[in-house]
Amino acid sequence: MLRVSSLTKRYKTGDEALRGVSFEVPAGQVVALIGPSGAGKSTLIRCINRLVNPTSGGIDLNGIEITHLGGRGLRRARRHMGMIFQEYALVERLTVMENVLSGRLGYVPFWRSFLRRFPQEDVDKAFALLERVGLSEQVDKRASALSGGQRQRVGIARALEQDPKLLLVDEPTASLDPKTARQIMRLICEVCRERNLPAIISLHDVPLAKMFADRIVGLRAGAIVFDGAPAELDTAM
Ligand code: ADP
Ligand code: ADP
Repeated sequence: MLRVSSLTKRYKTGDEALRGVSFEVPAGQVVALIGPSGAGKSTLIRCINRLVNPTSGGIDLNGIEITHLGGRGLRRARRHMGMIFQEYALVERLTVMENVLSGRLGYVPFWRSFLRRFPQEDVDKAFALLERVGLSEQVDKRASALSGGQRQRVGIARALEQDPKLLLVDEPTASLDPKTARQIMRLICEVCRERNLPAIISLHDVPLAKMFADRIVGLRAGAIVFDGAPAELDTAM
């Protein structure tokens, strides 16, 4: 369970990106974070994994307060958060399998054949994940040879590789065509439900959010202006 309380972020430029945001995400719930550009979606996601330091407020993941962690504690907390990005962030010259396993290293390896460093059980587990996301035929292909939808499937497998306790997803479909976008959203939501994993997915595509999310949180100018079931959104906004 994730609990965000009274979170604020004021950038050095003076921009107040978050103005007291509070919400909870229970296990297995998929929350779509929607709102116009500049609403604070990306700042919120980055505060949770501490790529951005919040100005005030709390972030509690399964009883651990994230906001003041540093060093080893922060690294450990981040291992509990799977990240999926809009631009996939794959290493082009590495294979699909290597990309998935590199999530475990926490840095990008620059030597070849680093697969040998991993015990067979890690490789087997990565293979099972790649099978789950529909890439069992592509494990040895280089990332550079994949389509956008396939890339995002690798991103999903990589995020799941460390058995995260929370999935943070920033505009996963922004670079995809509408049909592929629906497939990717469906896959993300399915794996979350299978694993009882809470997820926050920022999306600018409201119909897509309504189609797949369990719950919608609407942000505007750094504040929550809607929090409810997808079906309630029409009447509220
Ligand atoms: P969204 O993801 O909803 O588009 P952002 O979180 O990117 O919103 O931005 C929220 C506000 O914070 C905007 O006013 C934006 O200009 C500002 N902002 C975002 N990142 C930075 C930054 N690194 N430095 C200063 N201001 C920023
Ligand atoms: P270790 O680092 O000793 O292997 P784990 O990382 O497996 O321990 O953590 C054990 C449990 O404690 C996990 O269920 C995890 O949810 C929780 N936990 C430990 N540290 C953190 C942290 N920094 N952030 C979030 N959860 C944590």
